[in-house]
Amino acid sequence: MKKTSVTALLLALSLSALTGCTSEKKETVSSPVSPAGSGTAESKTNSSNHSPNPAANSTTEGKTNSNEGALKSPADSGEANSATDPDTSKDAQHVVAQPESIAVLVNKQFVLPESYEPSDLVYPNTRFIFKEKVEKRKLRKEAAEALEQMFKGAEKDGVYLAGVSAYRSYTTQKSLFNNYVKQDGEKKARTYSAVPGTSEHETGLAIDVSGTNGKCAATDCFAGTREAGWLAEHAPEYGFIIRYPKGKESITGYKYEPWHIRYVGKKAAAQIAQKGITLEEYSRAIPVSK
Ligand SMILES: [Zn+2]
Repeated sequence: MKKTSVTALLLALSLSALTGCTSEKKETVSSPVSPAGSGTAESKTNSSNHSPNPAANSTTEGKTNSNEGALKSPADSGEANSATDPDTSKDAQHVVAQPESIAVLVNKQFVLPESYEPSDLVYPNTRFIFKEKVEKRKLRKEAAEALEQMFKGAEKDGVYLAGVSAYRSYTTQKSLFNNYVKQDGEKKARTYSAVPGTSEHETGLAIDVSGTNGKCAATDCFAGTREAGWLAEHAPEYGFIIRYPKGKESITGYKYEPWHIRYVGKKAAAQIAQKGITLEEYSRAIPVSK
């Protein structure tokens, strides 16, 4: 290889590292929420030019990284571990075309457009484990209202819930991720921090929840608490699902996270809970597992 092309390659690689991008293929498809989006994620991996939905081509911006995890700091995020091997570069990335859909699927394979910012973010009138009116207190309006109802419902059962971390903008995620890359290098950063566009918190439809004392907030010891039990049993009645259920790590890409709930609407939540499936399966991004 000529020296100039080596230099160009090195430059391209370093730029990639700075932007959190890789040379993985990117493809724009609609969120596989509609029946038209059925088929496995694997089957879509190499279907480069045809989208299952014409609307899918409306979004052209691409995020190209795989691999979510969450943030390093429990104060900012919760989810600290990715259940899968950090090297998921074999996974193709798809940019969701309808990021504003309430049932949008966002994971390591289906990423939000870089420019997406929910237009209806509000501060839910509920407790949080912190006082400040900051970004991570926000949720999209419909999810915020459902959260208010759910917290009230829990109180009737003597369970007092509090928000830990909700919305996180792409910009915030990118800044956090880039800081981790500077600190530990991209490969390691990817094992514990979500690549921008791949965190469900960026939808404004997900929130980490704990008890009011914040004990075990977004950590494994939340499992088995009264609050976790209440959420597992009742969250779907309010349109929320436990997004990363136990035993579904290979599907969601995450270990069990009893504290991370995702608003999908009552109808979808009821079906997901009743069938014991994941949002991936409900969205038909992958076949239902037995
Ligand atoms: Zn979370």
